[in-house]
Amino acid sequence: DYCKGGYHPVTVGEQFKDGKYTVVRKLGWGHFSTVWLSRDNVTQKHVALKVVRSAAHYTETAIDEIKLLNKIVAAKPDHPGRKHVVSLLDSFEHKGPNGTHVCMVFEVLGENLLGLIKRWNHRGIPMPLVKQITKQVLLGLDYLHRECGIIHTDLKPENVLIEIGDVEQIVKTFVKEDLKKDDKEDNRGSSNASPKSEKEDEDKHKQREKTADILTREVSGISLDKSNEKKRAEDATAGDIISVKIADLGNACWTGHHFTNDIQTRQYRSPEVILGAKWGASTDVWSMAAMSGTKYGKDDDHIAQIIELLGPFPKSLCLSGKWSQEIFNRKGELRNIHRLRHWALPDVLKEKYHFKEEDAKKIADFLTPLLELTPEKRANAGGMAGGAWLEDTPGMEGMKIPGLEVGSKGEGIEGWANEVKKR
Ligand code: ADP
Ligand code: MG
Repeated sequence: DYCKGGYHPVTVGEQFKDGKYTVVRKLGWGHFSTVWLSRDNVTQKHVALKVVRSAAHYTETAIDEIKLLNKIVAAKPDHPGRKHVVSLLDSFEHKGPNGTHVCMVFEVLGENLLGLIKRWNHRGIPMPLVKQITKQVLLGLDYLHRECGIIHTDLKPENVLIEIGDVEQIVKTFVKEDLKKDDKEDNRGSSNASPKSEKEDEDKHKQREKTADILTREVSGISLDKSNEKKRAEDATAGDIISVKIADLGNACWTGHHFTNDIQTRQYRSPEVILGAKWGASTDVWSMAAMSGTKYGKDDDHIAQIIELLGPFPKSLCLSGKWSQEIFNRKGELRNIHRLRHWALPDVLKEKYHFKEEDAKKIADFLTPLLELTPEKRANAGGMAGGAWLEDTPGMEGMKIPGLEVGSKGEGIEGWANEVKKR
């Protein structure tokens, strides 16, 4: 992948934009890019530098991503969801041996929600944290949908990043540790005059790639130390506020211009998208609610599981998509799957996830409007951020977007359930 059209072979210490940025350490990578912790030599602050692969397809996608990110920066700075979406600080081009690479500069964030979920796996993320994350993602989505005219289309735990506290302080500690280790390795190398083994290089590489974990570990209440688990749980409920941001706009589109219908990662894909029907901003709301769910298999299995959980599809929706005929017959019955076991959401919450009757009801009441099968009728994100279940979210108690009714639908959001046709 490090070839013509591929990733740029970034090295630690490399300069970008005529010496404005110096690369410090790797933060992560994705299909399109590698992301590097870098120092801004003008402000002396640290930033995340995303270096995109150079092939034309990636470059074009990146140019669209920058337009979307610029809209996010400017649309409405005082919307309560603005701070829950990433900020683009700078963008430029960089010429290297594999071609010209689009580069984007962001604030430094920590690891993604998948890491957080894994870390709490054996007991589940504490409810106060779940509420904070849910409320913030809903506010961020409302900002994208209502103020920016943007649909994320790939909302999933990997694309929600945790904000870290004092970046400069944290960076200082581990950069110092890095230097110490490098010194030791160099000394060893010169004393026995042998070249560093591949294994050593690999180890160093692996260790380098865990920066996001190191950064997040510093967020109070989510320490990696297993022995301290009880204290962690207490910390996390003692009024700490986690802050998260929706990231990776690499697959996002405009409510007035959908780039493709092939959107969303399987388990977060909405019914209308599976069926190949019309979709709009409300498809993100489905993904948001699906983040609490399980894995699905093929399209018809996935639809079957949605029916088991939420009841039968209205006939109009069954037959509305390009792929409807493959999944449903003309009567609106599933073609290939016959024996469905109805297991309604509140019962699943009680029987599978062991919530108390009362809590199961509250959570189900909250999720049901977000999991409305018909996109037009699905509740908007901002309204649900004010839902009863989120009323006591630590640090955000009673917080609501003024004038937005809980459970209101696509009113005031262009392209809620279909692509807006521009005249
Ligand atoms: P791609 O479009 O290639 O998937 P992403 O924007 O998803 O690129 O970034 C790839 C990875 O880099 C992320 O999963 C994350 O681990 C890391 N990363 C991205 N942005 C930041 C950031 N602002 N701060 C810290 N890490 C980041
Ligand atoms: Mg990504």
